[in-house]
Amino acid sequence: MSRLKGRVAVVTGASRGLGREIAKAYAAEGARVALCARAASPTGLAGTAQEEALRIRDAGGEALAVACDVSDEAQVEAMVQEVAGQYGRIDILVNNAGIMIPSEPFLDIDPQRWDLSMAVNVRGPYLTSRSVLPVMMEQGEGRIINVGSGAAVNHRPGGTVYCSTKAALHMLSYCLAEELREHNISVNILDPGPMKSEGSSVIPWTQHDWHIRLTPEEAAPSAVALALKDNRTFTGQLVKTRELGKTWDW
Ligand code: NAP
Repeated sequence: MSRLKGRVAVVTGASRGLGREIAKAYAAEGARVALCARAASPTGLAGTAQEEALRIRDAGGEALAVACDVSDEAQVEAMVQEVAGQYGRIDILVNNAGIMIPSEPFLDIDPQRWDLSMAVNVRGPYLTSRSVLPVMMEQGEGRIINVGSGAAVNHRPGGTVYCSTKAALHMLSYCLAEELREHNISVNILDPGPMKSEGSSVIPWTQHDWHIRLTPEEAAPSAVALALKDNRTFTGQLVKTRELGKTWDW
């Protein structure tokens, strides 16, 4: 299908997991896709993102891999300039890059880990949105999809860092959605639900429900569905791919 033909999508954290699958799903729908990944990471730009962009191009699609650590302002600005320069517009921004850290008691939290999680999960979407918005405003429309989490609303012991970052991201999304209504730019939250991914595989609390988790490939179609929603009327919403025991009809 080509329901996203003519659209340009930027996906952060596209080296693996959900980000890579969203990029593939968008490309399969005809979008031109920028797979953003950290240059220095073994699974980043030099590894999977470049390979995936090549695979998409080999299959007849349009894709490029772009270096971007989302916590770095200069890299984010350079990434947006590169994508807008290459494709001429940016219609969809998916803030997917995120760090999931193991559960730990509050007093064991390392301040550096706190800062890094906030820098990637909250500052990252702030920086990317800030850089992309002038492009979308000039176009007169756009869609921002922030990958949130049930952790934003379900508190649990040991979850202070991750839950706080995702709660902040959800609130950033709601506030920004209100500001951007008049510009025809939607801001929505995608909660993919529990997934089997490299990131979540190292977290002890994921083990009890591992067998019923979705794969990132199974979760990605909900990001396509969200990108197809009317940006003028559908904004400031929390959309769940699936909750345990309950599946939404996409
Ligand atoms: P994952 O397998 O750990 O992938 C995370 C991605 O983020 C990787 O591509 C990683 O790149 C990238 N990343 C990390 N730090 C970055 C930085 N500073 N700059 C740019 N990219 C960076 O995670 P996932 O399971 O696919 O999760 C994707 C999103 O869904 C995250 O926001 C996560 O919080 C959210 N989520 C996940 C679950 C779940 O159960 N898995 C549930 C709800 C929500 P590298 O390869 O370079 O490290």
